[in-house]
Amino acid sequence: MNEPKTNLLIRLWRDHVVQFWPLLVVAFLLMVIEGGSLGAISYLIQPLFDEVFVAGDAGAVTWVAMAISGVFILRAISGFGQRVLIVTVGLRVTTNLQSRLLAHLLGLDARYFQDNAPGALIERVRGDTLALQGLASATLMTLGRDTISVISLLAVMIWSDWQWALLALAGVPLLIFPLTFLQKLIRKTTRAAREAASRLSTQLDEIFHGIVSIKVNRLERHEANRFDREVNGFLAAQLRAERGKAANPALIDIIAAIGFMAVLIYGGHQIMSGDKTVGQFMSFFTALALVFDPLRRLSALAGNVQAAMASLDRLYEVLEARPTILTPAAPKPLAAGDVVFDAVDFAYGDTPVLQGLSFTAAEGKTTALVGPSGAGKSTVFALLSRLVDPVSGQITLGGTTTTDADLERLRDSIALVGQAEALFDETIAQNIRLGRLDASDEDVRAAADAASVLDFAKTLPLGLDTPVGPRGSGLSGGQRQRVTIARAMLRDAPILLLDEPTSALDAQSEKLVGEALSRLSKGRTTLVIAHRLSTIRDADLIVVMDKGRVVEQGTHEALMQAGGAYARLHQLQSAGVTTSL
Ligand code: ADP
Repeated sequence: MNEPKTNLLIRLWRDHVVQFWPLLVVAFLLMVIEGGSLGAISYLIQPLFDEVFVAGDAGAVTWVAMAISGVFILRAISGFGQRVLIVTVGLRVTTNLQSRLLAHLLGLDARYFQDNAPGALIERVRGDTLALQGLASATLMTLGRDTISVISLLAVMIWSDWQWALLALAGVPLLIFPLTFLQKLIRKTTRAAREAASRLSTQLDEIFHGIVSIKVNRLERHEANRFDREVNGFLAAQLRAERGKAANPALIDIIAAIGFMAVLIYGGHQIMSGDKTVGQFMSFFTALALVFDPLRRLSALAGNVQAAMASLDRLYEVLEARPTILTPAAPKPLAAGDVVFDAVDFAYGDTPVLQGLSFTAAEGKTTALVGPSGAGKSTVFALLSRLVDPVSGQITLGGTTTTDADLERLRDSIALVGQAEALFDETIAQNIRLGRLDASDEDVRAAADAASVLDFAKTLPLGLDTPVGPRGSGLSGGQRQRVTIARAMLRDAPILLLDEPTSALDAQSEKLVGEALSRLSKGRTTLVIAHRLSTIRDADLIVVMDKGRVVEQGTHEALMQAGGAYARLHQLQSAGVTTSL
């Protein structure tokens, strides 16, 4: 992203922070009190020495002691208050930002999620917003409180002796050049560290999702080593960023050393010669000692801002991404009817996937897509549901081109029962309800019944309210399928996209799933990526695909008679050879 960084800060402020301005104003006032208290304390040191210790004025002890402790108590209260307020605003901004990011991400094209791994996206939604929050809170506190501290302490120093003050701080301008260099370094290294963190999250996500293959193939060591390498890369990047940040206050300390020495040598003589009181010297020295701490934090501020910018950049990269698959300005109505693919070309980048694909899936009938894996069958589903759009050619539904229709209406008219159809870590009933969120409990039950989900749910202690586990891991393969079939039943859409499982089920499950599917597809325009011979044979039309083209189409009998590709595939499969048919 080339946007100047100030623009991003202004956008963040306008979109997410400015709404909390009353809290920020109160926090700022508290910071002024907290910051000013340091000046007040160093100011009170002078009467403490000159009137109490040196002059021995017993009466002054009480008021000086009370004044100093009063300042400390004020500092405690204002410090507590401003921290709570700033953290509150920080957390609210972060959570709002996370919600907005997710809502935005959900609106992006399916392609975006193929280009960006889940782990990396999780790291942006969680990691980058949290990094931003920590840094932004620290920055606001420093800006408010430490600026006031520095001003009040400088005032005390100048009031004590402006020459001493000049002497003590003479070295500060020398810092400008190295500090500017450091800022650039910090932004660059922090960005690298955040990217390394994304790779870590991606790897963790893959490991936890692939845990079964890792265990079965005994890849635990291999994966642990791979993670070690990645985590070490992250460590190196993060350490570079942290070293950059740590160098800021170190530079201030060097300047402090020089300042202290100069004032001690010069001011020490003035006291010994009686030009200055001990109280004046102590008051100045307290202010000088106290000023370097907030100065150190202020110098780190620029580094923190740079680090926060690295995360902010990454967040706005996500917010800047725009979906390309959208409802047109004047959508045409969708009517029931045939699904027609007309000379459809599709490619992933430069790799052609579908080339001039044409076929008609008649309304209310079942059309089976068969062909070797990689032929483009799943791509047909993705195109019809507009997860992707064709490069050329068109897909019509009841005469309306899908890209001319309202996207939500289009998706409403489609139900998908796929191998990868997701179950979420909720109850069986909740998973079924995802087909139609406003369905009544009776409808959910009826769908569960029609899809033979009730058969197994009845035997579970919690029935339909049984949690299915992460990604449905608490259910068997056949049970998971029946839940997704029930979901499609409930959806009651005119078009059904069915991706038949390649893995065989046991005979009993196979029968139940098969029955549920034929109940589901009855009367619907069904497109099925078919693997089972019975499904294929019963289809009203079989479309044989290879390398993104239709090589043959017709009924089972017609294709067998033609003796072409289908007949050969069929013979192989009937003979028990596993093919991708
Ligand atoms: P089938 O369902 O018939 O097995 P697909 O429709 O899944 O075939 O895939 C068709 C072709 O598109 C394959 O060659 C596959 O490698 C390619 N392909 C699928 N998804 C992607 C993707 N996200 N990026 C690039 N190529 C892809």
